[in-house]
Amino acid sequence: MPENRAFFHFYHELRDFFTGPGAAISLKYDFDGKPSVKDAIEAIGVPHTEVDSIVVNGTSVGFGCPLKDGDAVSVYPASFSPEIPVKAALRGEPPPSFVVDVNLGKLARRLRMLGFDAAYRNDYADHEVAGLAESEGRIVLTRDRRLLRFRIITHGYWLRSDDPRIQVKEVLGRFGYYPLVKPFNRCLECNGDIVPVEKEAVLDRLEPKTRLYYNEFYTCTDCGKVYWKGSHYDRMKETLDSLIIRKRDAE
Ligand SMILES: [Zn+2]
Repeated sequence: MPENRAFFHFYHELRDFFTGPGAAISLKYDFDGKPSVKDAIEAIGVPHTEVDSIVVNGTSVGFGCPLKDGDAVSVYPASFSPEIPVKAALRGEPPPSFVVDVNLGKLARRLRMLGFDAAYRNDYADHEVAGLAESEGRIVLTRDRRLLRFRIITHGYWLRSDDPRIQVKEVLGRFGYYPLVKPFNRCLECNGDIVPVEKEAVLDRLEPKTRLYYNEFYTCTDCGKVYWKGSHYDRMKETLDSLIIRKRDAE
């Protein structure tokens, strides 16, 4: 039997990591030695990236705080600020760019549509996602909570929904990025920057009808894809409108 026991309480959306009826939000954690509070939280099954503050016996602590016998530990997500005089910051501000895990291509396209820098490939290995998060300072977005346990990942988010329309709202809400939405800035295909371009410069790459009906064009500085305010734009407006409605609801 382990020698020590601590008592954990998980708040708000951190409960999403406990499945089943009567999902545990308060639990006893038995341990030997002096694990860090971070190690214990991850052993319980909550990725460190989901945790915004930790209070042990009434004092806000960092991830490295060693766990002791009898400790009472409260664990909070970003959406909830406990009333404590001095809060130990677990990490800096999140960067405005993402690396999107495999099988989430639709989410990556939607984020690009909204102007966000969203790196994505459908064949990333886990260590590549983590490596990009570290080397390029990106937020990891994934449906795989184990991926978020990489130590080198500072910012990340475990998507609750498997519907990309809901996922994009989850992400903007979680990081407070609604004000950063900037459509027509990012190539949906390759994540390159798109810039306005004269119609004459792309005339030879347009279908006859597009040539006839549209006058405002953009091109990707990386892959050269041409965009105009046609069907892409309608789809984008739909996405934007639904986001704006959601934002009004939240206010
Ligand atoms: Zn491109």
